[in-house]
Amino acid sequence: MPEMNHSKKLSRWSLEDAREVGHILVVRCGLCNTTRRYLPDDILKIRKNTTISRLRFICLECNKRDYMDVAVYVPSRSEIGKLPVRRLAGIKEVKVPVWRDETL
Ligand SMILES: [Zn+2]
Repeated sequence: MPEMNHSKKLSRWSLEDAREVGHILVVRCGLCNTTRRYLPDDILKIRKNTTISRLRFICLECNKRDYMDVAVYVPSRSEIGKLPVRRLAGIKEVKVPVWRDETL
């Protein structure tokens, strides 16, 4: 499988597709020049399947999304066991208060 960095292909390539062929997501912030890698499987635990080009990441450093670039690739054999990957450690449920106005 060749590298798939073309945005045209990524508009048709889904998280499920990426998971099936063993792709990892490489998310880079062009402003901070930071790169994080994610497994499609982890992303599918927190959202519905979608195409890679529709994924929106926010940079954890600068909090902006405008400079984020997402690519996919298959890690080479030599990278296995060495490549840092950001894994989903858990899902925290957040309680949000809902208010309504009444008369006493
Ligand atoms: Zn950034």
